[in-house]
Amino acid sequence: MDEIRIEGLKVYAHHGVYPQESEQGQNFLVSVYLQIDAREAGKYDDLSQSVDYGQVCALIHSFMKEHTYMLLEAVTENMAREILLRYQTVKSAKVRVSKPNAPIPYPFSDVSVAVERSWHQAYVSFGSNVGDREEYIRNGLLALENEADIFLLATSSMIETEPYGGVEMDPVLNGAVRLKTLLTPYELLEVLRRIEEAAGRERTVHWGPRTLDLDILFYDDLILEEEYLTIPHIDMKNRDFVLGPMMELAPGLVHPVYRKTIQDMWNELQEKK
Ligand code: ATP
Ligand code: CA
Ligand code: CA
Repeated sequence: MDEIRIEGLKVYAHHGVYPQESEQGQNFLVSVYLQIDAREAGKYDDLSQSVDYGQVCALIHSFMKEHTYMLLEAVTENMAREILLRYQTVKSAKVRVSKPNAPIPYPFSDVSVAVERSWHQAYVSFGSNVGDREEYIRNGLLALENEADIFLLATSSMIETEPYGGVEMDPVLNGAVRLKTLLTPYELLEVLRRIEEAAGRERTVHWGPRTLDLDILFYDDLILEEEYLTIPHIDMKNRDFVLGPMMELAPGLVHPVYRKTIQDMWNELQEKK
């Protein structure tokens, strides 16, 4: 990946745990490393296809001046987020902030904190089989879209399927979305749970009737098997109502565990019937 580097931007600001730091302030040095695709900007000598580093410097400068954080961790975390939200062509941002004059009673040359934050691509399935199903789904997707750190990129059509897992109930309306997000998998799960709850979801019978079910299908090519979170989502290869919408969104996507494309998994499921 191509990179834009800004190194050692000096800003006088007021971050720090000690009162003299937040009151008097001190010099900070900020470096940012932005991962972009510079091909088009380079080929056409066109700034609008890249990131204006003068503007980024201005953003860093006012960010440093306008906030007062105790920790460099908070400074770097929030600055990386601000840059990624402002410049959507930046795929990943590494931010290092150092305090060469930090109040440490020993000789030292520098102290700094660096974080690297990126956009992630995820697929989330939705399903509803109670009441006005389309309305629950529409509102759920709207709530997702309204999250500051989530951008919906594509939505599949809604398909109706017979309920899964042998519980007697009405047919389910299903689909999936592709999104990009700054959230970690657990933070994303938390958002989905909150939206489910706002839709009046109650967890009574597993695989039972639900106003809204939102599951994380994929998160980049992450493989995670933990008590409360399994990614990719379990049992996908046996689920028409997951593979159907995924066929619309990303037939060529490779499942990181099975090492098969959605298309291949779909074909195999159809053959089993
Ligand atoms: P299924 O997970 O088989 O589709 P379900 O969606 O009906 O069943 P829920 O009752 O909605 O099951 O969720 C049960 C638990 O599954 C949640 O509390 C959550 O912690 C966990 N879970 C594990 N992996 C995921 C995932 N990828 N996306 C959403 N929830 C997950
Ligand atoms: Ca589910
Ligand atoms: Ca679920």
